[in-house]
Amino acid sequence: MGKKNTTIMTANVDPAELEKFSELAHRWWDPQSEFRPLHEINPLRLAYINETAELQGKLALDVGCGGGILAEAMARCGAQVTGIDLADKPLQVARLHLHESGLNVSYRKIPVEELARESPRSFDVVTCMEMLEHVPDPAATVRACAELLKPGGHAFFATLNRNPKSYLYAIIGAEYVLNLLPRGTHDYARFIKPSELAAACRNAGLDVTATIGMTYNPFSKTYALESDTDVNYILCARAPQL
Ligand code: SAH
Repeated sequence: MGKKNTTIMTANVDPAELEKFSELAHRWWDPQSEFRPLHEINPLRLAYINETAELQGKLALDVGCGGGILAEAMARCGAQVTGIDLADKPLQVARLHLHESGLNVSYRKIPVEELARESPRSFDVVTCMEMLEHVPDPAATVRACAELLKPGGHAFFATLNRNPKSYLYAIIGAEYVLNLLPRGTHDYARFIKPSELAAACRNAGLDVTATIGMTYNPFSKTYALESDTDVNYILCARAPQL
């Protein structure tokens, strides 16, 4: 037991972050719950991934999959999906939800760095969404994601930009004014500028192919993909062809 715990504790993970997600996990698939934003952005991000990487028949890995909202959606598009996370309860919820959806996703509790050592160059598509801002060393996560990609494979990272506007929108607006997210969900210091994420991708040997913004309109209560990357954004990168 000692050995395993040591491995986990020295790994690139913040146990307090996992605890936050575990506490709420039983409501993961309730579209009116704290996870409502994930349900609402899911069709947008899925369409973007599918247009860019054509999921049908592909091997896809969802890193920090939580209760499986994106993992299931990719499976529905015809990908063979593996979802990994380090929080127990979200993974339990994800596995249970397969009984409801009838979909097939393989869920595992394994650090992405370990999976990268176990199965390098194995996936056509790697997604890592709304997760990098919860890990101590996001560049190490990006590196592991890069190692997991087959040559020519696509990686998609979604996270929060770091600037006064993102503080105002993502923390004050979303957590205090609009109550879209529980207070304390996000830590501003962990937000990541697109330039920093792009540098992490390049250092990991990936080519950055696109950065696209995800915006929320509080009046229409709708999300959209557009060029404004000030708050939420998705960065797409590719492993070079051999
Ligand atoms: N990617 C999913 C869930 C986002 S919530 C989606 O967008 O729908 C963030 C998830 O990241 C939680 O499930 C949390 O448990 C997971 N997480 C946080 N730190 C992690 C780490 N170091 N390794 C793997 N998963 C992690």
